[in-house]
Amino acid sequence: MKKISLLGATGSIGTQTLEVIANHPDKFELEAISIGKNIELGLKQIIEYKPKLVSVQFKEDYDRILKEVPENVKLFYGKEGLEEVAANNDADILVNAVLGSVGLGPTLSAIRAGKTIAIANKETLVTAGHIVTSEAKKYNTQLLPVDSEHSAIFQCLQGERLVEVEKLILTASGGSFRNKERSDLKNVTVEDALKHPNWSMGAKITIDSATMMNKGLEVIEAHWLFDMPYEKIDVLLHQESIIHSMVEFIDGSVIAQLGTPDMKVPIQFALTYPNRLQLENKKRLNLLEIGKLHFSKPSLDRFRCLQFAFEAGKKGGTYPTVLNAANEQAVSLFLDGKISFLQIEDSIDLALDNHNYIASPSLEDIQEIDRKTRKFVESMMVK
Ligand code: NDP
Ligand code: MG
Repeated sequence: MKKISLLGATGSIGTQTLEVIANHPDKFELEAISIGKNIELGLKQIIEYKPKLVSVQFKEDYDRILKEVPENVKLFYGKEGLEEVAANNDADILVNAVLGSVGLGPTLSAIRAGKTIAIANKETLVTAGHIVTSEAKKYNTQLLPVDSEHSAIFQCLQGERLVEVEKLILTASGGSFRNKERSDLKNVTVEDALKHPNWSMGAKITIDSATMMNKGLEVIEAHWLFDMPYEKIDVLLHQESIIHSMVEFIDGSVIAQLGTPDMKVPIQFALTYPNRLQLENKKRLNLLEIGKLHFSKPSLDRFRCLQFAFEAGKKGGTYPTVLNAANEQAVSLFLDGKISFLQIEDSIDLALDNHNYIASPSLEDIQEIDRKTRKFVESMMVK
């Protein structure tokens, strides 16, 4: 029986994690969950999945639902609540599926509490990869990827040696605007951007896919998870999202992981690793039905965010922190209708050019820069 705590239970990854847990009640037990603003869904989850500890984002919601939750449920809120869910309970594994760099503090607390971390929350690894990975080493805790590309690479690397890897090849669907030219992007709407061709995901990551920042963040995520220099990480456009990523070895052999797009596969693999379990109702891969798979090279002029991410990753220090915070803020402004789609790129470009670089930032530096960058973007872009 594995005991699980879950940050971001009401989100896209969170709800799918709960489905995986519910499909195997003999294998998994839910200890704790965090909810953001979606209290209605959160209350249903509390009744259905019976976690012992729950955190909500806001004090007002905590006050409002305190009397509604069953007596044996310990209720918390805010940052302290996220810490409680991450570290202060009996869970063996933390699934971090919260959105954004708010996931950093709880991840570090869980590492220090000796929990295995199933990490979906890529912003944490992008903003402070050097701290997260060195703490994981120090406390001998495992970081298991949930992101489909990284789970694919992780699966391809089973039984292999990292020194024999020639390169990692991340595949990318290209997002909602993959068939559009740059000149077509000027007046695209939020609604258009939210229509992902292959995956149903949370709003922020769907916009990140449309700008290709998602792949940029994943390049940095791969750098930290697999200790791989940026020169050995490639990105390949692959519109069908059947090959979830590949590893090329020094002898020219390439191992890929394939399957129909379904986040429950990587979520479940992180929970059962090193074993596998039956996955109910999984649409099986039928290559005969698919017939052809397509590949092309992403243009870094067309997808400026991918270029920014490679550059920020290579420069290191505070660059990835600024890249991530500027992107989080810009996407949020775009979703609120305050800036245009192409201004997301402009915001990131401006923030990267205008920050005070620190080569080896501490946790406090990172938190400060994250805060300042969000403010900077807001003040520059919203008049
Ligand atoms: P969603 O927006 O669907 O869910 C985010 C979750 O985090 C929700 O439970 C939300 O609560 C909660 N949340 C958001 N902001 C805060 C906050 N400030 N404090 C506390 N809780 C908060 O996102 P996804 O599930 O799509 O993505 C989650 C993470 O997983 C991201 O880092 C994403 O990049 C990564 N990921 C997602 C994939 C996907 O298929 N969706 C694939 C690979 C990676 P509420 O909704 O109640 O407000
Ligand atoms: Mg991914």
